[in-house]
Amino acid sequence: MSEATPAKSVLIIGAGIAGLCAGVYAAMNGYRTTILEMHTQAGGLCTSWRRRGYTIDGCIHWLVGSGPANPMHRWWQEVGLTQNRRFVDHEIYQIFQDRQGRTLTLYTDPDRLEKHLLELAPQDAAVIREFIGGLRFAVAFKPPMGDRSGLSGLLDGARFMLFLLPRMRTFQKWMKTDMRSLAERFSDPLIRRALKEMWFDDFSAFFMLMTFGWLQRKEAGYPIGGSLPMIHAVEERFRSLGGELRFGARVEKILVENNRAVGARLADGSELRADFVISAADGHATIYDMLEGRFVDEKVEEPYKSWKPFPPLVFIGMGVNRTFNDLPGTVTGLSFDLAEPVSIGGKTLTALPVHIYNFDPTLAPAGKTMLTVAIDGDYDYWKRLSEDRAAYEGEKSAIGETLVGCLEQRWPGISRQVEVVDVSTPLTFERYTGNWKGSFEGWLMTAENGMTPMKKTLPGLSNFYMVGQWVQPGGGLPAGVQSAREVLSALCKADGKPFKTFI
Ligand SMILES: Cc1cc2nc3c(=O)[nH]c(=O)nc-3n(C[C@H](O)[C@H](O)[C@H](O)COP(=O)(O)OP(=O)(O)OC[C@H]3O[C@@H](n4cnc5c(N)ncnc54)[C@H](O)[C@@H]3O)c2cc1C
Repeated sequence: MSEATPAKSVLIIGAGIAGLCAGVYAAMNGYRTTILEMHTQAGGLCTSWRRRGYTIDGCIHWLVGSGPANPMHRWWQEVGLTQNRRFVDHEIYQIFQDRQGRTLTLYTDPDRLEKHLLELAPQDAAVIREFIGGLRFAVAFKPPMGDRSGLSGLLDGARFMLFLLPRMRTFQKWMKTDMRSLAERFSDPLIRRALKEMWFDDFSAFFMLMTFGWLQRKEAGYPIGGSLPMIHAVEERFRSLGGELRFGARVEKILVENNRAVGARLADGSELRADFVISAADGHATIYDMLEGRFVDEKVEEPYKSWKPFPPLVFIGMGVNRTFNDLPGTVTGLSFDLAEPVSIGGKTLTALPVHIYNFDPTLAPAGKTMLTVAIDGDYDYWKRLSEDRAAYEGEKSAIGETLVGCLEQRWPGISRQVEVVDVSTPLTFERYTGNWKGSFEGWLMTAENGMTPMKKTLPGLSNFYMVGQWVQPGGGLPAGVQSAREVLSALCKADGKPFKTFI
């Protein structure tokens, strides 16, 4: 009688969304799976934290695949994230107000937005109609999606190309348009400001349009409860499949023998061996520190030399003892002109974008509201400042005071209602998640890299894979589940097993 062969093992570095999803798919496919996480909890960038009764959410605005019409919905069900979760589908992306009392409301519905923009800036009618045309194109843009690996990957690729071919011209036009040049085509200063402020100058307009498409189709809602409950659900799914999750386990080196990944060495000196290693941690640290830059070629190095990462953030959470029932719920909040420019972490702000969580009562005690402000940060500025601890802490307090002063301009009396101010800097993000220069989402999606599939392996190193925001331009939570699915499908194939998933 032959004895059953013991299951092979998979070691995953990092318990952000990508590591957890990879863990779920590995365990689902019968691998003995261990996730090593340096922090004391899972989530990485997808997290929230409590301050005096308030929950400051540090991530989720919209989850692509929240609605069943989106192909990703099934993947989120597989990892146990969407079940028993209520999503809110906002009809407004963001509101912009200027000092002349004008308001621009970015509706996700193209018809409503067109009417509103034409009333606001009739002189821009031609470019408004072109922009709305792009939006309608995006609402109808529903490409097939698949695992992107093996034979089914080739078929998926072929299906995608068949879908794209008749749409190629419009697709390329918007793909090659960046947010800066789109904004500059409008003469109305409020529309220009909105388009410049809502995303990043180099960001491809196509992805902004796609986001509006998902929102409008109700496929990218906000989960009530915010980020951490979603992480806990995937963590639970992983454990229920028999996976092991270790906290306080910082990986320093990936162990390699004969050009094959065989395990990891932790900061405490202990070593763990496995048949396969998957890094779901920061890309730069994985390639250049954990593997000492031994497995690179031009293609692997190119992004780290010439692509732009999403910037790091100065992120402020504020708990206020009041409601905002007069304002509609929005995807990213309200931005208002300031009376005078203010300086935040070395950057000058002329307007303040405030995310008002008036649609999620779970984040604040009754009658109170959570607000957050996210401002592009300058990593080097904060790094220099941190050499003088007192100066660093002083700057953080000053930012809190400045922001409360700014809020007072829009909501007189609010400064007496502010109960919590919590400031995170690019170094906070770096410390808690290990992300390169504190980036909050990996590679910025631009005309150059937007359609570039990145390899999830490294040249010359077998039994090793990477998942997460550093191997899929645009990052975000979808990059986590999609890359995890792709990698586990490839790993199973390499191991001679069919890749299976179930809900
Ligand atoms: C303010 C903000 C808003 C956002 N809004 C959205 C949104 O609306 N929708 C969306 O989809 N995305 C959003 N994102 C982006 C999203 O949060 C990230 O892209 C995503 O969570 C990245 O997941 P990841 O698993 O790839 O990486 P990470 O979350 O960075 O996970 C990496 C994990 O690896 C661990 N780790 C690192 N080094 C080591 C080591 N040496 N040893 C052991 N463990 C290690 C880290 O502690 C971390 O847990 C937002 C992010 C921010 C900050």
